[in-house]
Amino acid sequence: MKPRKTIREIEVDGRRVFVRVDFNVPVENGEVTNDKRIRATIPTINYLKEHGARIILASHLGRPKGERKPEFSLAPVAKRAEEILGTPVKFVEDCIGPEVEKAAAELENGEILLLENLRFHKGETKNDPEFARALAKSAELYVNDAFGTAHRAHASTVGVPALLKPAVAGFLIEAELKYLGEALSNPKRPFVAILGGAKVSDKIPVIESLLEKVDALLIGGGMAFTFLKAQGYDVGRSLLEEDQIEMARGFLKKAKERRVKLLLPVDVVVASDMKNPEDARTVPIDTILSDQAGYDIGVETVHRFGDVIREAGTVVWNGPMGVFEKEQFASGTLGIAQAVATSSAVSIVGGGDSVAAVSRLQLENRLTHVSTGGGATIEFLEGKELPGVAALDEAESSAREAAVEGAA
Ligand code: ADP
Ligand code: MG
Repeated sequence: MKPRKTIREIEVDGRRVFVRVDFNVPVENGEVTNDKRIRATIPTINYLKEHGARIILASHLGRPKGERKPEFSLAPVAKRAEEILGTPVKFVEDCIGPEVEKAAAELENGEILLLENLRFHKGETKNDPEFARALAKSAELYVNDAFGTAHRAHASTVGVPALLKPAVAGFLIEAELKYLGEALSNPKRPFVAILGGAKVSDKIPVIESLLEKVDALLIGGGMAFTFLKAQGYDVGRSLLEEDQIEMARGFLKKAKERRVKLLLPVDVVVASDMKNPEDARTVPIDTILSDQAGYDIGVETVHRFGDVIREAGTVVWNGPMGVFEKEQFASGTLGIAQAVATSSAVSIVGGGDSVAAVSRLQLENRLTHVSTGGGATIEFLEGKELPGVAALDEAESSAREAAVEGAA
């Protein structure tokens, strides 16, 4: 995917800018309980403010399915954003209509307005052209800083940027494109991918795409058992997708042909019942009993995966190594997280649960890039074009060359 124009390259002084942000945060009893996503947009908002833009923020929250439901209101988010930014954030109780237009027209340079939940209107997820026109009416330029919804072709991610030009990337999307894009197109080698999570079937296109690019592929998590079964091991009651065994066999063959080092667990933590893991213990992969299931990778596996990670130039990680939500099955994910955090490689973690695991271990700052997208990150790794990114203007070639020279 070609580089996109960013807010650095456009003139925003005195202009009304529609900024698509991801303020889809948890709210309980009218209070934001986790404001990480709000904080993540501060660099973009502050940049626009300092450069005199009149800022119109738009986001969705939850799945109100096109209806106005008070529990999905962004009003509590306006309040929290105001506290974090230390500056007033005005709020209007809709995202289209005369009241919004009036509030937008009254904005002074550097002032901020937050619109009500985009998904209170059915036109948002349908990318209805009329709804997009109504959204675009109050603004002159478009900025997208919501990578998490970039894989969706919605009115606010695709419809509006077709109407407001320039349409550019904010700092969050810029960082995502830089790190994910560079890792896939021009990785520092050896390029190592770590894949885990529950199912092979969820990750087939990711495996397919990465096998074309990586030097080593480390597979843990539930999906490893389908690969182990394909190699002839008995996996007991471990997560197994019978209908994917052939697929796994094909991947093993392809890895061999392409000389990709593909590592599977050599030991696993087994238990007879995930909910009552009193009997959890680590066993070699060829000794799983028929009434046991594997819920984590073992220490020897962490050690071997770690050796490959330490040698890596680039590491991309998606999917936990085990049922990390449970303490008894978290050490594999913990061990790998630590190995990635301490390696000198360019390190990128993406995926909802993987990022949750890394953030629970407070290792975010020791990685090069923690991707903010769940589904969007996976689709990027699959090599798909994200509609919300494709809708943005391409970077001017002079800016692109300057960036390349700067990097050299
Ligand atoms: P991500 O959100 O990072 O893409 P996934 O959604 O694919 O990751 O997978 C995360 C889930 O996989 C977690 O809920 C975890 O409990 C589960 N999981 C990991 N290893 C196993 C295993 N061995 N057996 C069953 N579930 C597993
Ligand atoms: Mg997940």
